[in-house]
Amino acid sequence: MRAMTVVPGEPGTAAVEEVADPARETDRLLVRGLLVGVCGTDREIAAGAYGEPPSGQPKLIIGHEGLGEVLEAPAGSGFRSGDLVVGIVRRPDPVPCPACAAGEWDMCRNDRFSERGIVREDGYGSERWRVEPEFAIAIPTELGEFGVLLEPASVLAKAWEQVDRISGRAFFRSERALITGAGPIGLLACLLGVQRGYEVHAVDLAAGGAKRDLVESLGAHYHAGEAADIDVEFDVAIECTGIGAAGQSAARRVVSGGIMCLTGIMNLDPRLDIDATTMNRNMVLRNQVLFGTVNAGRRHWEQAAVALAAADRGWLTAMITRRVPLTCWTEALDREPDDIKVVVDLTA
Ligand SMILES: [Zn+2]
Repeated sequence: MRAMTVVPGEPGTAAVEEVADPARETDRLLVRGLLVGVCGTDREIAAGAYGEPPSGQPKLIIGHEGLGEVLEAPAGSGFRSGDLVVGIVRRPDPVPCPACAAGEWDMCRNDRFSERGIVREDGYGSERWRVEPEFAIAIPTELGEFGVLLEPASVLAKAWEQVDRISGRAFFRSERALITGAGPIGLLACLLGVQRGYEVHAVDLAAGGAKRDLVESLGAHYHAGEAADIDVEFDVAIECTGIGAAGQSAARRVVSGGIMCLTGIMNLDPRLDIDATTMNRNMVLRNQVLFGTVNAGRRHWEQAAVALAAADRGWLTAMITRRVPLTCWTEALDREPDDIKVVVDLTA
């Protein structure tokens, strides 16, 4: 079968290759790969900056935003041939740490977890793959191929769940939310914020185009430029750019008692000098919470499926701006000006 492969640590090795079919493990679902989404993590792996192959292998099958159709399901698994499924990314560490032992492997304490298509486990970028039934999420028929958005949506479902839980610590007004960045992560943050009843504002450097249309069609507000220039105070800010200056700018617009969530990794501007004194004074004197979040637990994947199923079909259609056939999938790694979500068609 054909697969999307890369040699982690070696830039320029991303390729489409013939590989052996997945091993015959009959306690797992056998899945025909349909679509796989490509994101910044895949670009980092292809650039040799991240990723790790399975033990004893030189290459990694990449792809962690995988949608497929069940070909074979073990009896009693709850799945049937023809079902649409998405595979969960992370697997608990083998120790396991107390968080993984409690089933919350997205909160792993020792970083020895594995992640399909990222570290230590092959991903979903192949014509066929297997997945444990307990790490598979059934996609409602009406959601169809938009299930390919489930992985990024699960990250935001977790982020928003954490905001909801933190907001219960004291008086809180769930009224206005600021989202920095209107890429796929920022747009999904907007969707889930609007679904929660927030007045959502997104800020992005792009002057307009598809990003503005997608934000405004949710009934949210779009701002081109910097968060610090928006004359509104926010109860919640969700940082989705990974750009230090964008995060600092957003932090200035958060109310006393407000919550700021970081989802983007700030490695784009390593010279950024965080003013720890100002941060300390704001957080102490204004009762603010700043927290980071990564990955998602099973319940977040389930929440994400509900959120996407409730979204407008036209909006979801506009999120996927480019489809690349498996035969030339590395073109999906290039960033084109109008890209929102780029997906690889594993059947082409
Ligand atoms: Zn763990």
